[in-house]
Amino acid sequence: MATPLVPCPDCGARFLGRDGPTHAYVGGSAGCWAAFGELGARELELGISGPHRLSVHAYMAQHPGHPGRRQAQSVDVHLMVLGVVLERDWSVADAVTAMAGWLRGRPTWPWLEPPSGPYRATIQDVQLGADRPELESDVRHWAEAVWAGWSEQQAMVRQWLDRGAPG
Ligand SMILES: [Zn+2]
Repeated sequence: MATPLVPCPDCGARFLGRDGPTHAYVGGSAGCWAAFGELGARELELGISGPHRLSVHAYMAQHPGHPGRRQAQSVDVHLMVLGVVLERDWSVADAVTAMAGWLRGRPTWPWLEPPSGPYRATIQDVQLGADRPELESDVRHWAEAVWAGWSEQQAMVRQWLDRGAPG
């Protein structure tokens, strides 16, 4: 008998139904969160360490979960990372360093209405068995799909980047 695939409420990727941990405020199904853990383990094997992981920002921005203060801050700041990396050619590590400055002064992070349509890529489009260049290319393609999905909010995120914070 086929086991039904359960769509992730945030990104739409379909995983076998399972029980398991999810993040306290990041959205996503248990299956999707587990896939994110597997990807992190694979990236570590390939030598892609924390500050260089574009996948973190793609995942977090694609999984807003339910409206709330922490959720809003998480999505907003990770969208800022996607914006500078994908549109302004910053390295991921430089963007991660800049995050501390964006968060300083506790600006009010507005809840952005998540995209209503499907994304053209999810974490399932990243091939875990790929070598490093191919995996990095998959992650970039996924990150571009997440950024494109948030197209209605991109102008606002660009303004925040120009100012160095929302507001
Ligand atoms: Zn998901």
